[in-house]
Amino acid sequence: METDAIICFETHVELKTKTKLFCDCLVRYNAPPNSQICPVCTGQPGVLPALNKRAVEYTIRAGLAFNCTINRQSRFARKNYFYPDLPKGYQISQYERPFCENGYLEIPGDNGQPYAVGIKRIHLEEDAGKLVHSSSSFEASDYSLVDYNRSGVPLLEIVTDHERNPLRSLNEARVYLEKLRQTLKYVEISDCIIEKGQFRCDVNISIRPKGSQGFGNRAEIKNMASFRFMMDALEYEIKRQSEILQAGGQVEQETRLFDEEERVTIPMRSKEDAPDYRYFPDPDLVDIEIDEEYVRSIESSMPELPEQTVYRLTEDFGIPKDDALILAKNKSMAGFFGACAEYCEDTTRLSRWIIKDLFKLLNEVRLPIEKCPVTPQDFSKLINHLSRGEVTDRIGRTVLGEMFRTGGSPEAIINEKGLRPIQDTGVLREILDEVMAANPQAVSKIRRGEVEPINFLIGEVMRKSNGRANPAKVRDLIRREIVLDNA
Ligand code: ZN
Ligand code: MN
Repeated sequence: METDAIICFETHVELKTKTKLFCDCLVRYNAPPNSQICPVCTGQPGVLPALNKRAVEYTIRAGLAFNCTINRQSRFARKNYFYPDLPKGYQISQYERPFCENGYLEIPGDNGQPYAVGIKRIHLEEDAGKLVHSSSSFEASDYSLVDYNRSGVPLLEIVTDHERNPLRSLNEARVYLEKLRQTLKYVEISDCIIEKGQFRCDVNISIRPKGSQGFGNRAEIKNMASFRFMMDALEYEIKRQSEILQAGGQVEQETRLFDEEERVTIPMRSKEDAPDYRYFPDPDLVDIEIDEEYVRSIESSMPELPEQTVYRLTEDFGIPKDDALILAKNKSMAGFFGACAEYCEDTTRLSRWIIKDLFKLLNEVRLPIEKCPVTPQDFSKLINHLSRGEVTDRIGRTVLGEMFRTGGSPEAIINEKGLRPIQDTGVLREILDEVMAANPQAVSKIRRGEVEPINFLIGEVMRKSNGRANPAKVRDLIRREIVLDNA
């Protein structure tokens, strides 16, 4: 029996607002425990929440980026459960009438065609506090501490649809998460730093016989700490459930944990359903009316989406689409390209050099482009020297390496290191003569009409001149000295 997987994500994304969702405590990562708290976000009696308008704006921005309907009326609900990190005994979330519904995110599907992954809803809610256990193993802890700094921080919950174009494979799941994160960063509503807990996923997986329209029982895996773990857990779970189905068994509906050591999922508890949370509208918060004009004003000030960047890079700068896709993966990278392109004569050469050479240097020292020691002005000056043939590619690489280490300008480095190309034909000819004298066999092969040894001689001249010779000029000289001489 062949099987299909259905994968649904609930992704929690921390919005980058200055203050929390219902009070004016600051959102600060790594602040001393319980230093960013007040009576509202610690759930003390007699206080009232006041909604952060910026968080609503960011939610609508997400809704627009993911092609959702923006509900004209929206409301907050209480999700009731007990846990020590939740001081009120409920989380302010949304249930009926979230801000955004029925959207999609287009990804390249497994069949090579664009696939519009259904997004069921995007709602806004508050984060809980953080428990710190005295031992890394929960069971062995003598005591646990609670830090409420994170309590009340605004979160978006983005839920994919299990009926309308769900994710069907491990690969589609990976592509979806990457595109989701990329888009959120592009519209500047979250930094999505996984290590800081700004992008957390719960995932639901179920399996059904190929072609079947029903839904099997699903297993949920909660709060995975990295992309790697998420993919490992998904892969394991798809295999586990398929095997149960193949053997004629039934999958339990349950919440499972991913054991990072053993790389397996293990049962945690039977899965809770919505009624378990006794949702009801929060009486402390009024319904929110969102008018057309407000949505339009957010739409008109929206930062560019990844597709728009790719379009701009190919249309305005004429660079190949594959290059544009690579540059646009990271908004800051596309920004660096744009800043350089202003000064550059050859934008395709520019994109090649960013992708091949600058990426390599940045990766070697694990530096993000934002901290690149080479300014766009200097980088584009170097590219202009290259496109005018004033330095060879090989010297260009040396110069770039030096610029990267010292932050110096290309001219200063070229002068200081004596890297000016050899312009004097007499000097080039001298080097070539030496090379020819040392390689008489190559010379006679060229005389007999072979082409390959020409490249060998050029390579030798480049080596002897420390890359300062212009290869085109050397080829020309070889033609004149050997080939034409022969004719
Ligand atoms: Zn507060
Ligand atoms: Mn949630």
